[in-house]
Amino acid sequence: MKLINLAIILAAGSGKRFKNKEPKQFLFLKDKPILIYSLEKFEKSNLIDQIILVVQKDFLNLSKKLIIDYNLKKAKFLVIGGKERYESVINTIKFIDFKNIRVKKVCIHDASRPFVSIDLIKRVINNLDKNSCCVPAIKSTDTVRYKKIKKTKVLDREKIYFTQTPQAFYYDDLKKNYFNAIKKNIFKNKNITDDASLFELNNCDIKIINGDYFNIKITKKEDRSLAEYFLNNIKLI
Ligand code: C5P
Repeated sequence: MKLINLAIILAAGSGKRFKNKEPKQFLFLKDKPILIYSLEKFEKSNLIDQIILVVQKDFLNLSKKLIIDYNLKKAKFLVIGGKERYESVINTIKFIDFKNIRVKKVCIHDASRPFVSIDLIKRVINNLDKNSCCVPAIKSTDTVRYKKIKKTKVLDREKIYFTQTPQAFYYDDLKKNYFNAIKKNIFKNKNITDDASLFELNNCDIKIINGDYFNIKITKKEDRSLAEYFLNNIKLI
């Protein structure tokens, strides 16, 4: 049986920081919902065979309709996400195994980053060949200050990377790292906000490639305005 390359699109967040009743990934950006932008890019990438979209239970019906309306043929499955991001990933891993989907490489992407490019998808996937894990990131140009209670300290910005998605992994490694983390109770004690963090905890080297400046994450209301500005004024690829 052929092993496939899979994209997992995480759209099960509640968007607390966006301060809106409806999760931000379902809000419109110009003429379509935010999550559709990235789904269309993965649909068009010839390195991706299948897409799993992860959403909250209440958004299953709307998501099914969107998949049909936007003709997303690779998005064959919807998975119900968990309370935390890592739980959404774990639910998806369990679903993949339950369905016996045979996966070689997996790309995990936050649906709240609408401007992922087909080129970035290609670069994270292709850079996996020599590495166990590949993430896009932008080196800091700001002065970064760390604060603990009242004490502050400037960090060496040459060593600070703002990390994005999609992040690429070999599926078997991803699964091993997630199940190890559950066994060691890591999610209870550590702040795990992306998937590569689990590889770091297992002392794996992470390949950082150049991220894309326009690949912003829509977290707060201002980010949506910025995204709209990009759409109206910049030729996004
Ligand atoms: O909250 P954060 O910005 O880290 O969310 C990143 C992505 O993970 C978003 O696209 C969000 O919808 C998704 N997410 C999820 N399940 C959760 C929390 C977040 O799929 N429980």
